[in-house]
Amino acid sequence: MVHQDIIKGIWKGLVPHRVEIFAWLSMLAKINTRSRLLQIGIITPENSFCVFCNSSIETPDHLLIHCHLPSMIWTWWLNMWNLSWTQPASLKEAFHQWRPAKGGPFFKKIWAAAFFVIIWTIWKERNARIFSNISSSSRELQDLVLLRLCWWLKAWEDDFPYSADEVIRNPSCLNWEKSVAPRNSSQHLVPHLWSPPPIETLQWNVDASYKSHHDHAAVGGVLRNSMGNFVCLFSSPIPLLEINSAEVFAIFRAIKISINSDRINNHSLIIISDSSNAVQWCNQDSGGPWNLSFMLNFIRNARKQWLSLSIIHKV
Ligand SMILES: [Zn+2]
Repeated sequence: MVHQDIIKGIWKGLVPHRVEIFAWLSMLAKINTRSRLLQIGIITPENSFCVFCNSSIETPDHLLIHCHLPSMIWTWWLNMWNLSWTQPASLKEAFHQWRPAKGGPFFKKIWAAAFFVIIWTIWKERNARIFSNISSSSRELQDLVLLRLCWWLKAWEDDFPYSADEVIRNPSCLNWEKSVAPRNSSQHLVPHLWSPPPIETLQWNVDASYKSHHDHAAVGGVLRNSMGNFVCLFSSPIPLLEINSAEVFAIFRAIKISINSDRINNHSLIIISDSSNAVQWCNQDSGGPWNLSFMLNFIRNARKQWLSLSIIHKV
């Protein structure tokens, strides 16, 4: 019965299916946290502590809700909308309480998706710390939450007029509704987000977000098949780079992931970027900024060796 209740709210298709599955398993305490590994005898008690605080046993509820880092992310999201909560006892309880105080249908979907995005981002961070020894600050994680939200919302709301960069700079643009007139009707601000690639071709949409007032940037990409289904997604903070260079970085990452994946590397590939400079540099055989030469050479080689790899500029 409890399972049924959880299931009802989860499968909304607002986020990739594997993320919905992850949320479902988390609420049933069936993800492979260290407490579970301890329970089934894979690790010893001294290795069962949470990677964020190193002082509590890593249970799903502790890891995704109660520990200081996840708690900061939840609080940040709630405060952004002038809300606060008494910390729920469990993830399940959090899920059932999770709704905005006001707002239209789009904003309600944003909220529903945000729940998934937040726990997924925390889980990815946990894995990055454990398996790659890489850690992001809570500020970077907040940006990643917004970035993922922006990519995933594009799968169900084509008309959303703001870029990930704009949302990161001003998250209140998420409180947008379809009926609202465009901000400037003379200027078409809706970017061309996705059009289906030819059959058997996979398409990356890459994106770099860059904030002039902060000293960090992030890149990300979404790979979709000709049906528009998600095949792969990446996002990561990068060192501060000028925006076109950051786009080259995003293209580089997309190619690198593609080469290393057997699911991807036997397909034709299209990579879409909204930086015409980055696309031009990648498609030339030489030139471009000297500090990008490593990445540009890698991209140029991939372009020559790949069955079919097109790097295209589209706004
Ligand atoms: Zn902890």
